[in-house]
Amino acid sequence: MASIFREVGETFSTLVQGFSVTFRNMFRKTVTENYPFEPVHFQPRYRGIHVLHRDESGLEKCVGCFLCAAACPANCIYIEAAENTDASRISAGERYASVYNIDYSRCIFCGYCVEACPTDAITHGHGFELATYDINSLIYRKEQLLEKQPVAPTAGR
Ligand code: SF4
Ligand code: SF4
Repeated sequence: MASIFREVGETFSTLVQGFSVTFRNMFRKTVTENYPFEPVHFQPRYRGIHVLHRDESGLEKCVGCFLCAAACPANCIYIEAAENTDASRISAGERYASVYNIDYSRCIFCGYCVEACPTDAITHGHGFELATYDINSLIYRKEQLLEKQPVAPTAGR
C-alpha cells in the first residue's frame, strides 16, 4: 500500500515538474528570426563552421600537429603538414598545414578539435549555411576555413 502512495506521489511531482516547464514557456516572449531577410542572432557559444585563425603578424596559428584530427570522434579532419622555410614562412612553428580539410557530412560539431588544439588555431565560428545538394561540397578546404589575411594599412592614412 505504501508503495502505491509513493508511486502516486512521485508521478504527481514529475507531472508538476514537467508542466511547470511547459507553462513557464507558454508565457515567455516568443522570438522569431526573420531569416533569410535579416541576420540570425546566435548565442556566443554557438558551434558553427570552423575558423582557422592567424596570429597578430598574419601567420597561420595552425602548426600541423594533427592533435585535432586525433581528437575528432567522427574522423572528419584531414591534414597534410609541411615544413616552414626561411624563404616561405606560413606559421610561427616548424610546420604548417599545407592541407586542412573538414568533412561537414561527418562533423558532429562536438568541439573536441577546438579543445585539443594547443595553439588556439581552430575555433567554431557562427557560419551555419551548409545545406547543399552536392555532398562533395561539404568538404571544406583550408582556403574556406582560414581567416582572411589582415589588410595592410595604406600609407598616408
Ligand atoms: S567538431 Fe567534433 S566532429 Fe567536428 S571536426 Fe571537430 S572534433 Fe571532429
Ligand atoms: S588546428 Fe591546432 S590541433 Fe589541429 S593541426 Fe592545427 S595546431 Fe594542431
